[in-house]
Amino acid sequence: MLGLIVQKFGGSSVASMDKIKNVAARVKAERDRGNQVVVVVSAMGDTTDELIEMAQKAGRNLSDREMDALLATGEQQSAALLALTLQNSGYDAISLTGWQAGISTRGTYSRAQISRIEPDRVVKELDAGKVVVIAGFQGINPDGDITTLGRGGSDTTAVALAAVLDASMCDIFTDVNGVYTADPRLVTNARKLAQVSYDEMLELASLGAVVLQPRAVELAKLYGVRVQVRSSFSLEKGTIILEVEEMETTGIITGVAHDRNVAKLALFDVPDRPGIARTVFKSLASQDINVDMIVQSANRNEHNDISFTITRNDLPRALKVVERVYQEIGAGGFTHGENVAKVSIVGAGMQSNPGVAADMFEALADEDINIEMISTSEIKVSCVVQSQDIERAVQILHQKFKLDQV
Ligand code: ASP
Ligand code: MG
Repeated sequence: MLGLIVQKFGGSSVASMDKIKNVAARVKAERDRGNQVVVVVSAMGDTTDELIEMAQKAGRNLSDREMDALLATGEQQSAALLALTLQNSGYDAISLTGWQAGISTRGTYSRAQISRIEPDRVVKELDAGKVVVIAGFQGINPDGDITTLGRGGSDTTAVALAAVLDASMCDIFTDVNGVYTADPRLVTNARKLAQVSYDEMLELASLGAVVLQPRAVELAKLYGVRVQVRSSFSLEKGTIILEVEEMETTGIITGVAHDRNVAKLALFDVPDRPGIARTVFKSLASQDINVDMIVQSANRNEHNDISFTITRNDLPRALKVVERVYQEIGAGGFTHGENVAKVSIVGAGMQSNPGVAADMFEALADEDINIEMISTSEIKVSCVVQSQDIERAVQILHQKFKLDQV
């Protein structure tokens, strides 16, 4: 035995029986190389969305428990169908649900977290020479009820299993062939990255270049799981996600990410005293509204302005909160804007290179693109700009930092 490989196939890779046969061929090739193989599958195509739509016909009151029981069936179908396909081409295979595979969860329905995996059954079947096909996106909570791991949760199932089984690689097969320096739909000469660090991937994922559930990347980083994002439909290598120290080369900037799903809110003439930020952001947090960038202006006459960004879908709920809170804190007023988007440059090499942010601002200024908000971390700089400028912003930053060149 060479080792153990975890292969995860997303919904588009298992969308029909023809595609499942293609998946079986990928599994067989790995098996023929002498590796043990654990496969994690998503539900076929848009099955999860279709199940949600069907449930909505039951009425408006949809309990989380039953929704999870329903949605978990999608992955069970594809797991059993893949096992059947493998068996019919002469390969010993067995499908397991999340709980049969020993996956325990904690937390709320619909976005539970994996708390523990007891892989005895999986190991037993592997040792018996079988390909083990596991239904992604699901587990069982301490009450013995079925839970799901949040949309895209099969990625997390795969990485968690790879960690517990000490797999040499976790291959995530999807409909793109890797992680790019920018969205190829916007930037024609965007380049596929051979490697990207966990931290860069986390920034890229949270910045809207989602190819992996962020939780899966966090787990991979925590347990040092090597993850490869690659295409189900081609044999070429994908992008390997690993620790920055293990990377062959690190440029200053790795990629340009953008996010259109942004809205901006600003509170004016907020009294400058302790507890104000707490009141505003606690109120938002209590409504489960995620705040991204926050900017507080300099104090003028004991007052300042506080602006922040959120996910655009949360805007109606955030406005309700702000309408109530601005009076409570004695602010002068508030505004909001929906026609904004966020562009970010990400790169592990940025930490040791001063002037990167200035280069970004210069590139935007040269194009007459106004920056409305700025935020930075050790490995990224983000700017909020007008929505209509976002494509151009991504393109000129890609060019400025010469990301088409290795
Ligand atoms: N089927 C679930 C979803 O669509 C989980 C997954 O695909 O990873 O979100
Ligand atoms: Mg899916």
